[in-house]
Amino acid sequence: MNSSRLNIRGTILRNEPMSRHTSLKVGGVADIFAIPEDAADLQALVSQLSAAGVPWLTVGRGYNLLVKDGGIRGAVVSLERFNGIDRQGEHCIRVEAGVENLVVVRFAQQLGLGGIGFISGIPGTIGGAVRMNAGAYGEGILERAECLTILRNGEIREFCIDQLDYGYRRLSLESGDILLAVLLRLEPRDPESTEEEIRKDLALRRDKHNVGFPSAGSFFKNPPGQAAWRLIDGAGLRGLQVGGAQVSELHSNFLINRGGATAADFLALAGKVKSSVFASSGIMLEEEVRIVGEAD
Ligand SMILES: Cc1cc2nc3c(=O)[nH]c(=O)nc-3n(C[C@H](O)[C@H](O)[C@H](O)COP(=O)(O)OP(=O)(O)OC[C@H]3O[C@@H](n4cnc5c(N)ncnc54)[C@H](O)[C@@H]3O)c2cc1C
Repeated sequence: MNSSRLNIRGTILRNEPMSRHTSLKVGGVADIFAIPEDAADLQALVSQLSAAGVPWLTVGRGYNLLVKDGGIRGAVVSLERFNGIDRQGEHCIRVEAGVENLVVVRFAQQLGLGGIGFISGIPGTIGGAVRMNAGAYGEGILERAECLTILRNGEIREFCIDQLDYGYRRLSLESGDILLAVLLRLEPRDPESTEEEIRKDLALRRDKHNVGFPSAGSFFKNPPGQAAWRLIDGAGLRGLQVGGAQVSELHSNFLINRGGATAADFLALAGKVKSSVFASSGIMLEEEVRIVGEAD
């Protein structure tokens, strides 16, 4: 599609390197990178893309994305301007997709609400967190969600959480669905105890997740009853390197960009990790990181 024909109030970038929009710092160009202003602008964008038969992928801040070196044919949609957050009734807050997780926790804290301290240190947006059912310490954000606002087939619709299928690090949606907002049900919580929860979470992450190089956090999901890092360690893979991609010496479920890595390096390294772990434990690891785009 000739993207100069796209007519929205927001921003349209062409041939935008996805390495600028992913924490792994790899990935080829997206034909179109669109940043709509608001929901009406997003609807206008999606209707033009649909009419032209152009596929789209919605992204948050790219902390869980591996974009292949051939980039993305079609459009990438960023909801970074969807930053509204407000209280709804006594115990709920409605948060638009582009709000950062820590901002959500802080907003709730000011209202004397809490129960979502576990997302404080998870980098990214609430849209990405809901899409991934992101979480920590055995909790996932969707356990706190009451309804999701989704743009599906051009229409903005509300879904109650019990109408949706979700589980550990997954939420089933239809292809092309765009999450606009989430209604979170929180608990009354003394702001001091939320402060303590935030402090502990950030300190723990500074110790455990500060691997010194770009990463996407845990690359593989934990298989039921197992820790992926322990299986990777057990297979003797700590420090294994392919090109510029390496199994971190500090946290073996983090694959890091030592400098100059390509997406192909990460894919080759991930393949080696999976086959070695399978050979040593009989368990096939599954990627938590979303792999998108075209091979070079
Ligand atoms: C150092 C580090 C630590 C991490 N720790 C954790 C952790 O403890 N727990 C955890 O769960 N994750 C963790 N992560 C992974 C990552 O932070 C989460 O998955 C986060 O929720 C991703 O948010 P994002 O906005 O960057 O989403 P992205 O990475 O941009 O997108 C993630 C997925 O959601 C889709 N998506 C994003 N926004 C929308 C939307 N509005 N509508 C439809 N689809 C959308 C994307 O297409 C993609 O499939 C960590 C990552 C890093 C780098």
